[in-house]
Amino acid sequence: MNFSEKTLQKVRKAEEALAGRFAEIDAVSFAGTRRVIEAFARHRVSDAMFAGTTGYGYNDKGRETLDLIYADVFGAEAALVRHSIVNGTQAIAIGLYGLLRPGDAMLSVTGKPYDTLEEVVGIAGEPGNGSLADFGISYREVPFAGDWDYDAIGRELSDPAVRLVFVQRSKGYLDRPTLSVEKIGELVRFVRAKSGARIFVDNCYGEFCDALEPAAVGVDLMAGSLIKNAGGGMAQSGGYLAGSARAVELASYRLTTVGVGGEVGATFGQNRDLFKGFFYAPHTTAQALKTAALAAWLFEDAGFDVEPRWDAPRHDIIQQVKCGAPEILCAFCRGIQSGSPVDSFVTPEPWAMPGYSDPVIMAAGAFVQGASIELSADGPLRPPYTAFFQGGLTYESGKIGIMAAYEEVMKILAGGN
Ligand SMILES: *Cc1c(COP(=O)(O)O)cnc(C)c1O
Repeated sequence: MNFSEKTLQKVRKAEEALAGRFAEIDAVSFAGTRRVIEAFARHRVSDAMFAGTTGYGYNDKGRETLDLIYADVFGAEAALVRHSIVNGTQAIAIGLYGLLRPGDAMLSVTGKPYDTLEEVVGIAGEPGNGSLADFGISYREVPFAGDWDYDAIGRELSDPAVRLVFVQRSKGYLDRPTLSVEKIGELVRFVRAKSGARIFVDNCYGEFCDALEPAAVGVDLMAGSLIKNAGGGMAQSGGYLAGSARAVELASYRLTTVGVGGEVGATFGQNRDLFKGFFYAPHTTAQALKTAALAAWLFEDAGFDVEPRWDAPRHDIIQQVKCGAPEILCAFCRGIQSGSPVDSFVTPEPWAMPGYSDPVIMAAGAFVQGASIELSADGPLRPPYTAFFQGGLTYESGKIGIMAAYEEVMKILAGGN
């Protein structure tokens, strides 16, 4: 990899400017790691827990302990952590089907939910597939433009049919700021004062970015993916749900069956990676945050609109770079791909991905397929052609990927291919 002297100089300047931010990120990582280590000690983690079970998976000490550790670290009463939950979408869907009943209304207060949830809710796709809408659960939304629209939310909550308030913490593919946990806490107080509706948080990409998680400020349930932050880059697959004891119990009935719940589930030797991943998670998240901040500095310096800005506080690991043109978005993704440890020789192309409404270009060269805690970039091919960048298992490797993306984009700006 022959980075130009100009790029190397820019990176040195960026890192000087970012020293203070990096120290803040390290402090959050230290506090998170401390919470994890304390929970491991409190729950007496031992080698025997890594062995795993088969069949029903009764008395799987590792699974049971990991559930308790997640609950502890996230400030929840209970949690379900399973390698067998295939992704964040499934974890969230388990929670929604677990908590909602026919006749209920779900109110999203952060605008449209993540693209892959549209068919789950029933605002996209064919009727009859078993969406929430098919079960007589209606959907409403209040847009989110940077702050809570308390008037609109209050009006919706005055309807007793609204039994679930849905919050997406991360910006996802939307052009809006990510929520801090503090901001979610404000909403919790508002909702509790007005209604008995439960509060559910899509926590994807948020874990370990703030000092607290949404469960600690009183939401009923939150869910996320183990091939994002919480798996620490070690989990080979999985998802989690955490929240109040009752909400987690209801979710467990949807995860397996009513009456059986979370007491079963063989772990087949996956426990070690899930424990180890959670041990790494605060640190790995910090690596991704630093990589994102570096990208923000470099691309802002090159004249691009970026969100968040390099010196802004971060509440998720996503970095947006508004590329402004499809060829720049594609160049960005090509660069990320070329700097990846796996599949660096592949050229990413836009494709019609199931569950997404516009063609999406994705760059990922990950040890675990689709793991976006690993260096990855993607973006729907629609104006303003925003690259959503995230991950980086180590800051060093993330930096290499960002430098490669920077040089690819610079080539286009200079009028090259
Ligand atoms: C990643 C993500 C999801 C779930 O996506 P999966 O690919 O199914 O894990 C949901 N919401 C947000 C905001 C996300 O970033």
